[in-house]
Amino acid sequence: MPDAAVAARSSETTNSGTTQQVDVAVVGAGFAGLYLLHKLRKAGFSVVVIEEAGDVGGTWYWNRYPGARCDIQTIDYSYTFDPELDRAWTWSEKYATQPEILRYFGFVADRYDLRRDIRFGTKVKAANWDDSSERWQLVTDNGASISCRHYIMATGCLSTPKPPEIDGVKDFKGAVYFTGRWPHDGVDLAGKRVAVIGTGSSGIQSIPLIAEQAPHLTVFQRTPNFALPAHNGAPPDDRKTYFETDRAAYREQARWSLAGVPYPQETAVSWQLSDAERRERFEKAWAAGDLVHILTQLWADQAVDFDGNALIGKLIHEKIRAVVKDGETAAALSPHDHPFGAKRPCLDTNYYATYNRPNVTLVNLRQEPIKAITASGIVTDKRSVDVDVIVFATGFDAMTGAIMAVHPITGRAGKSLSNVWAQGPQTYLGLTVAGFPNLFMITGPGSPSVLSNMAVSIEQHVDWVVDRLAALREAGFTTMEATETAQAGWAQHMADCSTLTLHRLANTWYTGANVPGKVQGLMPYTGGVGPYRSICNEVVGRGMLGFRLTGPNVAEQCNDGEVVRLQPDVRLVLGMLAEMNLPQIESLGSQGARDFLTEFNKGRPAGRPVGEVGSGALQGADGPLPYRLYRPATPGPHPIVVYFHGGGWVLGDELSDDPFCRDLCRRSGMIVVSVGYRHAPEHRFPAAAEDGYAATRWIAEHATELGGKPGPVLVAGWSAGANIATVTCQLARDRSGPQIAGQLLVCPVTDCRFDRQSYTDNAVGYFLTRALMFWFWDIYCSPADRTDPRASPLRGNLANLPPAFVATCEFDPLRDEGIEYAEALATAGVQVEQLQARGHIHSSLVMVDVVITGVSARVKMAEALRGFAGLPRKLEASGEDAAPIAVNAAAG
Ligand SMILES: Cc1cc2nc3c(=O)[nH]c(=O)nc-3n(C[C@H](O)[C@H](O)[C@H](O)COP(=O)(O)OP(=O)(O)OC[C@H]3O[C@@H](n4cnc5c(N)ncnc54)[C@H](O)[C@@H]3O)c2cc1C
Repeated sequence: MPDAAVAARSSETTNSGTTQQVDVAVVGAGFAGLYLLHKLRKAGFSVVVIEEAGDVGGTWYWNRYPGARCDIQTIDYSYTFDPELDRAWTWSEKYATQPEILRYFGFVADRYDLRRDIRFGTKVKAANWDDSSERWQLVTDNGASISCRHYIMATGCLSTPKPPEIDGVKDFKGAVYFTGRWPHDGVDLAGKRVAVIGTGSSGIQSIPLIAEQAPHLTVFQRTPNFALPAHNGAPPDDRKTYFETDRAAYREQARWSLAGVPYPQETAVSWQLSDAERRERFEKAWAAGDLVHILTQLWADQAVDFDGNALIGKLIHEKIRAVVKDGETAAALSPHDHPFGAKRPCLDTNYYATYNRPNVTLVNLRQEPIKAITASGIVTDKRSVDVDVIVFATGFDAMTGAIMAVHPITGRAGKSLSNVWAQGPQTYLGLTVAGFPNLFMITGPGSPSVLSNMAVSIEQHVDWVVDRLAALREAGFTTMEATETAQAGWAQHMADCSTLTLHRLANTWYTGANVPGKVQGLMPYTGGVGPYRSICNEVVGRGMLGFRLTGPNVAEQCNDGEVVRLQPDVRLVLGMLAEMNLPQIESLGSQGARDFLTEFNKGRPAGRPVGEVGSGALQGADGPLPYRLYRPATPGPHPIVVYFHGGGWVLGDELSDDPFCRDLCRRSGMIVVSVGYRHAPEHRFPAAAEDGYAATRWIAEHATELGGKPGPVLVAGWSAGANIATVTCQLARDRSGPQIAGQLLVCPVTDCRFDRQSYTDNAVGYFLTRALMFWFWDIYCSPADRTDPRASPLRGNLANLPPAFVATCEFDPLRDEGIEYAEALATAGVQVEQLQARGHIHSSLVMVDVVITGVSARVKMAEALRGFAGLPRKLEASGEDAAPIAVNAAAG
């Protein structure tokens, strides 16, 4: 049915006594509720929308404070479900004002005749699931209660203002206003001494305008926020042109982007750019006046790496100092307690310059906390400020506030949502909760919501939910409920995602830190809008994975499981590789495979700088071999790690694991010498193994010349390189040296058997395949030689070997032989530390600056090496070591 024709359809709700009977009840008539109503009607459901406010608009109905605007460009902050609607409305400004956005919602409501199915001025107080009728019963504060099959909370992430936490508000004789509940007929502040408490987005937008009206404005700031000039005006030409040229492509790119705005993925990392290049990028972003631009387009590591991020903070501090004349005020306005972007930055118009006005005073509550509000004003530790008006710009009880305000929400077996969420919200996909059938949340905790352009996220949610309800009805199912397994898996995935970004280092309203007593935990999904969309699609594609579906005349369906078991960045990498449609390496022949690898490696991020990188030749088992040496920046002499690259004894060279060698060098503070050992098929077994041993001996003997510490060396390797490293340890023991202080084995090949479970579980799909391993073995070693401990070290004598650190990855064909080797070493009396990396693939841990979730494993490897060398395990503390906050209570 064409969108415009849907308006003509009645929702056909029925009243039975004092209860209104509908298929679906939606709470909230904001961005989400309006689209839900339209889409549900279009799908043929009877619907009622309950809304506390007097009209449509949600956020934009309530937030009428001076300066209220959106902070995502309005070209992006619009409905896209109906191309005709998209064309019918043109925004006047880059960032529209609240009145214009509210007019837009009125226009949408009129166009689809939405108001007739909305009960305004009505609040949903409680909601109870009735198992026998399989319906929700909603209690309202105005008029009939509601009985519905499906209950959708479109109650908003930022719709419950946070109550003031200061004593004495009731004693204040002047006027009190909340930015989130601003009077509809405006407030005249002329002649009024005004206090604004709070410097989040609403404070930052309203302060410059209040300062223009009020004779004196005192701003009470607890935590400074990063704010960027909006440079509002007409929509910028570049975006407008892209948008006008191909609206469909523009919208589609937004849907698959990380933040819901069509920007490409930045690839250059901070340390690849010079100071001048970084400054140029920053100035461009500053001039663009676009949050998403500055949050995503500076450099690739800005949101994931502490050092890459700190560069931005410093540049913004400079900007603040350049504008704010008083040094003390500038310092107080400069955020230092959170990485840039870990808390939502704000867009401003003249915010910092406002503090140069003679009628504006900033009170830094970190130095002088508010003691009380009195009849005449605000008293801090150091002063008393008399005012006529207090404006609370103190934000919201975000994400869970409006959901928990409906109390109780009782699911199956009398379970109350407030009990289930006592330790923090738990959801599946941010959309549903186990134990609460047919309950859906739009942009609930666990979805990208406030970390995205919410227009895009809301439309994705609404489409997903309504399409599921229609499909359910089609198949004869009447209930849909998330399973506990799926929900727990989502909590784990959320936790994994959170280790990727710097949100973990900030206490913010994203984590509930702004509300006293609220359980702390990162509530929005940090994995990005596009990946989230693909996961939701995958749930459907895999037969409603993680949902139990029931109906009166159909067999129950429950396809239980966790939708994402890979680490989020590993999932992205595999997705990208799949899109590249790469050839099977084993089909290329050995030289073709080497050429392919060389080309492939050109696309990866360059490794980070170390003190010095050099190269040379050393003596192998049968002639000279090239090596690459990585020296730390700290004064030496340093212990030496002899490193053997991966590549199945066939591929790679001393340069091919360059980023990993640099990382090991930086994190361990040791010299790493990567050895270019001989490869098959030109040099089959035992050439590589014997080269490994000879190279280690040579390096130990030439340690001083290499600038290293004389004495025992360490060995390390990845994959076939780890095979060579541990074989070297066995040979060194049997051949009286050199002395080896420890071995780091990352996803080692330890045995020639292919019948272990991990070979079956991970045969395909995780980059290193079973077929590729067959191919490597065939080229390297004849079947007769394979049981030789120099090929299969698991079959050798494991006693009296140096201490080992063995890392294995869950989705790696080599997983089980690695674990078996670690266990066998331990049984033989060798000191072993094991790391079984959950959600990782064979190449994860060496993909430095690509697989960020591998950082903690790489830190542990470096610590182990330092421990083997008799050094303190930790090299130095960095800001990144700050205690991470939980993702949500469930994930711990
Ligand atoms: C000042 C401000 C600026 C923002 N700017 C942007 C921006 O630029 N870009 C962006 O992506 N996001 C922005 N947001 C976030 C914004 O909330 C969302 O973009 C979007 O408007 C949310 O729509 P919604 O329908 O989900 O919720 P809301 O718009 O919050 O609507 C929820 C509605 O539910 C009603 N409700 C709640 N509980 C009940 C109940 N129990 N009974 C009856 N009714 C109930 C509320 O009254 C409200 O009207 C901003 C938020 C604020 C506060």
